[in-house]
Amino acid sequence: MALGKAFLLFGPPGSGKGTQSQLLREKLGFSHLSTGDLLRKHLKNETELGKKARVYMDAGELVPDEVVIGMVQDSLSDFPDNKDFVLDGFPRTRDQAIALDALLNDLNTEVGTCMFLDVETDVLKQRLVGRRVCKSCSTSYHVDFAPSKQEKVCDICQGEVVQRRDDSEEVIMERLIQYEKKTAPLKEYYKQKGILVVLKGENKPDVVFQDVLKIVS
Ligand SMILES: [Zn+2]
Repeated sequence: MALGKAFLLFGPPGSGKGTQSQLLREKLGFSHLSTGDLLRKHLKNETELGKKARVYMDAGELVPDEVVIGMVQDSLSDFPDNKDFVLDGFPRTRDQAIALDALLNDLNTEVGTCMFLDVETDVLKQRLVGRRVCKSCSTSYHVDFAPSKQEKVCDICQGEVVQRRDDSEEVIMERLIQYEKKTAPLKEYYKQKGILVVLKGENKPDVVFQDVLKIVS
């Protein structure tokens, strides 16, 4: 018995990796792991790992790799056997990629393909500035492309829909620059392994998903 193959979806903030992951989950029954969601879950439930992460976050520092990897490991152990799964937002660095390979190896599986969603900076900016998220259930909206029915109210849970602080215009450019800098070695890592595929993330989500389908099936 073993897990299915891991597919990685990565790309800058606003590239639509969350949407593609969601489509894989809904259309193909993939298990899905988003480290953003995972971190929020551990913080909310005040798990041991969540408490560790909190210490760093309160100090304004990045959550260290071993904590994030612990969370990923914890989730993978709940994934069903023989079912492919998608990781979104992880790994973020070359060190995390190496740790992930070791982790998957222990679970008798490996990374199938690493999909990078490439999107031009101007398009990313427009997408990110309009992004809103429900404080309660994390459903995402966009003021232009996917507004909630009632302004600032979640369609699903009636929770408050807000702009995350790191989606404000001034923070966005810095995030994009940092992202590019940090992920260049990661891209190189998967390129050298021969499993990197760059997808045109500027297309509509369903068009991008057709490309994703060709890769995962
Ligand atoms: Zn909600």
